[in-house]
Amino acid sequence: MPALDPVTAESVLAAVGIGSNLDDPEAQARSALRALESLPESRLVAASSLYRNPPLGPQDQPDYINAVALLETRLSPHALLDALQGVERAHHRVRGRRWGPRTLDLDLLTFGSACISDARLIVPHPGLALRAFVVFPLAEIAPELEIPGLPTPARLQERMNEAGIVRLTQHASST
Ligand code: ATP
Ligand code: MG
Ligand code: MG
Repeated sequence: MPALDPVTAESVLAAVGIGSNLDDPEAQARSALRALESLPESRLVAASSLYRNPPLGPQDQPDYINAVALLETRLSPHALLDALQGVERAHHRVRGRRWGPRTLDLDLLTFGSACISDARLIVPHPGLALRAFVVFPLAEIAPELEIPGLPTPARLQERMNEAGIVRLTQHASST
């Protein structure tokens, strides 16, 4: 975990999963990180490497590029979801079939110690512990993160099959 310098006592550490498999996915992921740097009331604390992964769900689509970002934010969880969906729309996300190809997917993985389950938002994200493309980049930047109801990312990674994941050498935040 990087040392934190909280903006205020109310700020919370949130993890965001980034995924793309259309229209130059590596560029989409880097562009998403720049957009996350610019979110209101928030600061980008860490960004993982980019990882190449086989698709989840339908296999007749290109491999994904995935990464995870850590944000310190004073936004509420739902305001952060709104902001993430705004960034998806700015990257021309079109909603098609479930888990189908997309220019950009931004999922709220964790939000401090919050447990949320309503019509718009489930946090921690229900796929977090099951997905190598989330656990590996999260363990890279926040191995000891406390996630409600789950082991740390480092422990999750120990138990997990790499399942075709490839860490790309260039760091996500470099252009
Ligand atoms: P998955 O969530 O399994 O990775 P997906 O990312 O492809 O699937 P989307 O089409 O991006 O799913 O989102 C569908 C809905 O999921 C959104 O409209 C949003 O309201 C809801 N949702 C619930 N929990 C979350 C979360 N933690 N992060 C992002 N969206 C969420
Ligand atoms: Mg998703
Ligand atoms: Mg999503």
